[in-house]
Amino acid sequence: MIPAAFEYVAPTSVQEAIALLQQHGDEAKVLAGGHSLLPIMKFRLAQPKLVVDIGRIPGLDGIARSGDTITIGALATHDAVERSGLLREHCPLLPETASVIGDMQVRNRGTIGGSLAHADPAADYPGAVLALDAEIVARGPGGTRTIPARDFFVEMLTTALQPAELITEVRVPVIGKGTGTAYVKHAHPASGYAVVGVAVVLEAGGGTCRRCAIGINGVAGKAYRATAVERALAGRALDEKTVAAAAAHAADGVDVQGDLYASSDFRAHLASVYTKRAVLLAASRAG
Ligand SMILES: Cc1cc2nc3c(=O)[nH]c(=O)nc-3n(C[C@H](O)[C@H](O)[C@H](O)COP(=O)(O)OP(=O)(O)OC[C@H]3O[C@@H](n4cnc5c(N)ncnc54)[C@H](O)[C@@H]3O)c2cc1C
Repeated sequence: MIPAAFEYVAPTSVQEAIALLQQHGDEAKVLAGGHSLLPIMKFRLAQPKLVVDIGRIPGLDGIARSGDTITIGALATHDAVERSGLLREHCPLLPETASVIGDMQVRNRGTIGGSLAHADPAADYPGAVLALDAEIVARGPGGTRTIPARDFFVEMLTTALQPAELITEVRVPVIGKGTGTAYVKHAHPASGYAVVGVAVVLEAGGGTCRRCAIGINGVAGKAYRATAVERALAGRALDEKTVAAAAAHAADGVDVQGDLYASSDFRAHLASVYTKRAVLLAASRAG
């Protein structure tokens, strides 16, 4: 499939990109890694008149630590996140998540900013940023603002970003001692996207769960926090029976999606099974 004709521009600064987006409104679309935008342009589900390629803006792909926060530039590729020594040591949930996104070609081109902005319910990062209580930094005509991950995903393919706003960075906390993290995924056998993906950040002490945060993607129209499971685990022993009973609530309160591969009942079942696995794995890593 060939996309409809479009103009292409590659600004060299965030300000220039924002000005172009403001000037061209709905007719312009941001291009980062292109691994979600180009397929939908080829299917002609998007037909922008102007493609604004932010991939050449310098300084948007760094990964750096400042105090207890790690900042990841919007243009950091999935591969860069997977290989980052800083993240592997201090926030291993993100490299683990990045490592199971698509294949090597996708990971070499796709970016964390593009994935979050696209807000595909079956993408892998959304559950992880929810579990991490990450912050998404956006810059637009009105300046810079910080959006908590829990407010970022509005509905399928829709985020809290305003017109002409760009994600510039994602901020995640440094994970401390006594806290384990895990991302486990049931991948669609054809596309590799998450049929169910569960991200867990769990603080343990004396064999019990002190605090846990669970983000789930693939199950509903948008990624969500499994608050019923979090509540059921708080202060409880981290044995298999208790975790299984809590994980049975993984799809509570959400409209579970069904499709040709997985009916909504099967998906809800997978959500419980994978939540149990992710919690037990995070608990074992918490030490
Ligand atoms: C074969 C294949 C398999 C895949 N498998 C998986 C998978 O298993 N798991 C998974 O999570 N993903 C998967 N993906 C998607 C992949 O991770 C994409 O790279 C990602 O979803 C989008 O990132 P991108 O940088 O390519 O964004 P683009 O495609 O360039 O852009 C995506 C959207 O985000 C907007 N955008 C991009 N950057 C910004 C920004 N900084 N600020 C504001 N808006 C922005 C664009 O305008 C566009 O609307 C797959 C893709 C392919 C082609």
